[in-house]
Amino acid sequence: MSEKPTNFIRTKISDQIRQGQIDQVVTRFPPEPNGYLHVGHAKSICLNFGLAAEFGGRCNLRFDDTNPDKESQEYIDAIEEDVRWLGFEWSELCHTADYFEKLFDWALHLIRNGDAYVDEQSAEEMRKNRGTLKEAGVDSPYRERSAGENEALFLKMRDGEMSEGAAVLRAKISMSAPNMNLRDPALYRIRHTKHPRTGDRWCIYPTYDYAHGQSDAIEGVTHSLCTLEFEDHRPLYEWLLKKLPLPSRPKQTEFSRLELEGTVTSKRKLNTLVQGGYVSGWDDPRMPTIAGMRRRGFSPEGIRLFCERIGVTRKPNTIELQILEGSIRDDLESRAHKAMAVMDPLKVVVTNWDRGPLPIKVPWHPKRPELGSRTVFFGQKLYIDRSDFELYPPDGFFRLVPGGSVRLKYGFIVDFEDAVLDEKGGVKEVHVRYDPDTRSGQDQSGRRVKGTIHWVHAESAQEVDVRLYDRMFTVPDPGNYEDPSSVINPMSLTLGTAQVEPALGCLMPEIFFQFERVGFFKQDPASGQGRLIYNRSVTLKDAWIKKS
Ligand code: ATP
Ligand code: MG
Repeated sequence: MSEKPTNFIRTKISDQIRQGQIDQVVTRFPPEPNGYLHVGHAKSICLNFGLAAEFGGRCNLRFDDTNPDKESQEYIDAIEEDVRWLGFEWSELCHTADYFEKLFDWALHLIRNGDAYVDEQSAEEMRKNRGTLKEAGVDSPYRERSAGENEALFLKMRDGEMSEGAAVLRAKISMSAPNMNLRDPALYRIRHTKHPRTGDRWCIYPTYDYAHGQSDAIEGVTHSLCTLEFEDHRPLYEWLLKKLPLPSRPKQTEFSRLELEGTVTSKRKLNTLVQGGYVSGWDDPRMPTIAGMRRRGFSPEGIRLFCERIGVTRKPNTIELQILEGSIRDDLESRAHKAMAVMDPLKVVVTNWDRGPLPIKVPWHPKRPELGSRTVFFGQKLYIDRSDFELYPPDGFFRLVPGGSVRLKYGFIVDFEDAVLDEKGGVKEVHVRYDPDTRSGQDQSGRRVKGTIHWVHAESAQEVDVRLYDRMFTVPDPGNYEDPSSVINPMSLTLGTAQVEPALGCLMPEIFFQFERVGFFKQDPASGQGRLIYNRSVTLKDAWIKKS
């Protein structure tokens, strides 16, 4: 599939370039390092980095690190790793903290122009006096202080002479603005907290609203792209741009955030799952984090394909999980190494096989010779999947049945001979005869059979652990639950084992695999030489797999 739906932002940029309004597109991806990135961030990353690349512009990775209480180096490192893994490289690595000095000077500029004041109301009073959507707010008793008094107080705030909560710096706009964001919003708060980057240097920190637009202006960002919840903040963004002597004039454009069915896309809520021990970590393969998707075996190309397919609009909507899984599948289909693994082994004895194992060279991918090949063995004792044999087959069952024949992929056609049952009437093993004239690739027999199944050679097979993943939550809207741990799907992880062909028995952590007729798999990083663990990344859309 090569659809590349355009979007309103791309169209707008093309127009601006054509009309000579801008000569270089500059964007930024501005995460707050208070958690790991999730699939929603992937959308923003693809949009920001993608547009910059497409138009020969620049895109910065900017840590919006204005809230030292919740931020950490672990998150910073993880975010860098995840952006790179998705396939993007930033023009510059920026930190809002590096602009603290400048932001402080600009705050003084606002104070001196009578556009900001130090408010000493308690948080409670401020909340009360803010008014409501229907009612205007009430001016703070500190609102009319002189510029000189405000400046002296602001310096006291900076110098650590005031305690947390004792004062905030507020923009002086209007307490009766219909847009609540314009009701004298806070610009600076006191936080006696060490910052991962600036240490003890500051004890006042700018708010998001104050820092964001000015950081954009410092970096020369032309298109400040953010999600729709910031639409109501745009008037404040523009008010600050107008009031300050900034080096450039960025423009904010909003788009709808990615909401994915059955998924939580809030770092705060994901964090509660991690802290509560409901998952093995931020990179638990069930998590919608980039680290989780990587560990599960999703490819960066597949995630980028997904982001391209969902497009960018201003219309809020929830994307079906199928769209993500379908994109991963479509990407992996063309590039995964194909191999054979049997999840639920049923022993098959080839009664007329009277020699040692026969090595068969098989390409890793039928259409990609550059991936090379591996050797599988055919022999007297094999395993097939239990579901590929039926004693009493329903109509349309074209796999192995009493009296029937089936092709063992890359091997031979085998003809049913006998089924050995256990005491309870279950099938213990199946005896077949192979037809020596039907070797795959050399078959001159003219025989046709309806089914082809996968298998492994019992003696050379390796046993590995498999982890099968299902939807993480039992409800389609876990994001609406304050505590999503209450709706975790107990079947979201199933542990099992599989018999795999010998080539799969060594560490190959980078390779994407397709276990033929079973699904896509990738080795879990916890695999060791002693024991391999394969994560099922996504199932196959396969007519063979009947929903039970
Ligand atoms: P969270 O609430 O999970 O912490 P956030 O929006 O606060 O998410 P940030 O780190 O501030 O996370 O976001 C960085 C960028 O990613 C922002 O530009 C934000 O708009 C964007 N973003 C975050 N979540 C989504 C989403 N679900 N879809 C699209 N973009 C998103
Ligand atoms: Mg945020």
